[in-house]
Amino acid sequence: MKIHEYQGKEILKKYGVPVPRGIPCFSVDEAMKAAETLGGPVWVVKAQIHAGGRGKGGGVKLARTLAEVRENAEAIMGMQLVTHQTGPAGQKVRRLLVEDGADIRDELYVGIVIDRVTQLVTVMASSEGGMDIEEVAAHTPEKIHKVSVDPQTGLTDAQADDLARKIGSPEGSVLQARAVLQGLCKAFWETDASLAEINPLIVTGDGRVMALDAKMNFDSNALYRHPEIVEMRDLDEEDPAEVEASAHDLAYIPLDGNIGCLVNGAGLAMATMDTIKLFGGEPANFLDVGGGATAEKVTEAFKLMLRNPNLKAILVNIFGGIMRCDVIAAGVVAASKAVSLDVPLVVRMKGTNEEIGKKILADSGLPIISADTMGQAAEKVVAAAKA
Ligand code: ADP
Ligand code: MG
Repeated sequence: MKIHEYQGKEILKKYGVPVPRGIPCFSVDEAMKAAETLGGPVWVVKAQIHAGGRGKGGGVKLARTLAEVRENAEAIMGMQLVTHQTGPAGQKVRRLLVEDGADIRDELYVGIVIDRVTQLVTVMASSEGGMDIEEVAAHTPEKIHKVSVDPQTGLTDAQADDLARKIGSPEGSVLQARAVLQGLCKAFWETDASLAEINPLIVTGDGRVMALDAKMNFDSNALYRHPEIVEMRDLDEEDPAEVEASAHDLAYIPLDGNIGCLVNGAGLAMATMDTIKLFGGEPANFLDVGGGATAEKVTEAFKLMLRNPNLKAILVNIFGGIMRCDVIAAGVVAASKAVSLDVPLVVRMKGTNEEIGKKILADSGLPIISADTMGQAAEKVVAAAKA
């Protein structure tokens, strides 16, 4: 789950990371009031969307007068902000952050992720912070310093100070940089984040270390123990199909192809997509209905897939273990009728009550194409999508 910059800054503040004074706003009028409350003399008006690269896309603007604050707020609020992370359609700006303009001496970078190879929380830091960090990673990776965090000690003083010096923190600011690095690590750990990034982390003209941007993503599987983070969710920023899917407890990811897949189990869903590709097709989605799919759930899954205008055929691939094939078959029949399915449907079922399931499909009178093996199923659905 992602959150906005201003929400990330609220969290970081609690962990002792200095951030500029700022106020989130939902309208231009609110932005004006916020600017007056802050008092200037320099403000920054910042689009709040769940994507980076806002600065380059025109979503971050400096203002030196209240008139300029209004001008910027009017320009940014409601704009369709296109960045390298939004895709060409961009993302509509519905919230702004108005904050104090900072006196930037140096822009640094610090980010935390879990390194899957070492299986450790890893801090990455660079002297080359700011809007071109992707370039740095691509062309001068030696300028990004990495350190693994021992879960028993957290980021140690020595590790933090060493990183701070490597990324060019002035000697007089090393203690502050240590507090920021350790605060960020603690925030990452305690909120079950999957990403925590400050870019830029700045050194101000008078030597203070401060987070000018904040990006945090969280592990969805841990959200049950963070109600205060769940409250920060902004559904406007999420794919409506994915929001609906999660409401029905379906794992659904839209993709670029034209063959819808409805599968139980994430592993089988991945294998199904691979098999479709092997036979020259392209999956339209990943969809895992989980272990306990009811007819209602299968119907919702069909509805989700059918929203995709590119959809040409559907492949249902079920392994009946705990989930019985007859239950799924009844669900598929009910769902096909409920949504008056108008694309070819290939069904492959294996496992518990397979025969009863197949009979239910055959007796339904629906034009369902049956398949026995995954290869057969993929071949048939690819042919159906091309027909
Ligand atoms: P993004 O990463 O989405 O482009 P940032 O919040 O990093 O957005 O802002 C982009 C750039 O704008 C920063 O690298 C910094 O140079 C400048 N900036 C952002 N916030 C402030 C601020 N409060 N004061 C001064 N400059 C800022
Ligand atoms: Mg940034």
